[in-house]
Amino acid sequence: MSNVLEIEHLSTHFHTEEGVVRAVDDVGLQVRQGEIVCIVGESGSGKSITAMSVMGLVEGPAGRVAGGRIAFDGIDLLKLGRNELRTIRGNEIAMIFQEPMTSLNPVLKIGEQLMEPLIEHRKMSKKAARKRAIELIGEVGISRAEQIADSYPHELSGGMLQRIMIAIAISCEPKLLIADEPTTALDVTIQAQILDMLRRFKEESGMSILLITHDLGVVAEMADYVVVMYAGKVVEEGEVVALFENPQHPYTKGLLKSKPIINQRQDELYSIPGQVPNPLELTPSCYFHDRCAYCMDICRTQQPVLKDAGNGQKVACWLNEEVTPV
Ligand code: SF4
Ligand code: MG
Repeated sequence: MSNVLEIEHLSTHFHTEEGVVRAVDDVGLQVRQGEIVCIVGESGSGKSITAMSVMGLVEGPAGRVAGGRIAFDGIDLLKLGRNELRTIRGNEIAMIFQEPMTSLNPVLKIGEQLMEPLIEHRKMSKKAARKRAIELIGEVGISRAEQIADSYPHELSGGMLQRIMIAIAISCEPKLLIADEPTTALDVTIQAQILDMLRRFKEESGMSILLITHDLGVVAEMADYVVVMYAGKVVEEGEVVALFENPQHPYTKGLLKSKPIINQRQDELYSIPGQVPNPLELTPSCYFHDRCAYCMDICRTQQPVLKDAGNGQKVACWLNEEVTPV
């Protein structure tokens, strides 16, 4: 199957007063058509910044994509101008976030916010867009769709707002949906419903999903392929079954030690001692070495690179060097 999204050697940096933060450091990943790829990692791992880089949302004086290639359907997004990017964003690539309120306009009615992309990208008349907006509200499982269309965001619950965000995201039938912790703020039952719905839309439309989460229960439920990030780097990746059955990186092993419980929200997943290193104090090393029970001398002075580890997995760890000749 073809790759809808191909990220190669992506680096995204933030310039702070104390120095440069390499939030995303030489990251690569692919998402094939109809596939769900999960990026998993603790906060500060760079997973959200990776997604924002794809959407062209890392801008301004402090943050910028410092290098690499982000190809969507073969088009290098980093070479597109603002307007060209706008025709893709919200249309062929859509994004949903953890907090719907940050993306919805508080002073516009729900129906109007659903109509906007249909009018802009699909060139629908107002009348047709209104009709489709109401249909979409029904499709995300909300009853009394007309009444909801005439409501303001503050009149709806968090779960309903996230459904509306999904309705907006799928309104233009995107090829790729990027979902950044879409269910983290919701209770367990609603979370399961939203994930089911995303999977159903994916099955019906053939879209691909790049799903960002810290929750291995969500990964187990949703992912075809998993990318584990740590301190801005990919440390392990592989098909979901292989990775859960045979994690190879000590970090992934640590994550999996606190066994994911399907359909149960986990705020504090990680029992790995220690913390993610200060991004301003990174030295050439395995960034996990302070927390790793297997740390060797080489781990403190040289950075392992991501290499084939068999079984379709890739791992960046010096322990893996014995099995893969250099
Ligand atoms: Fe642990 Fe060394 Fe592997 Fe890093 S490279 S995860 S410190 S064994
Ligand atoms: Mg995040």
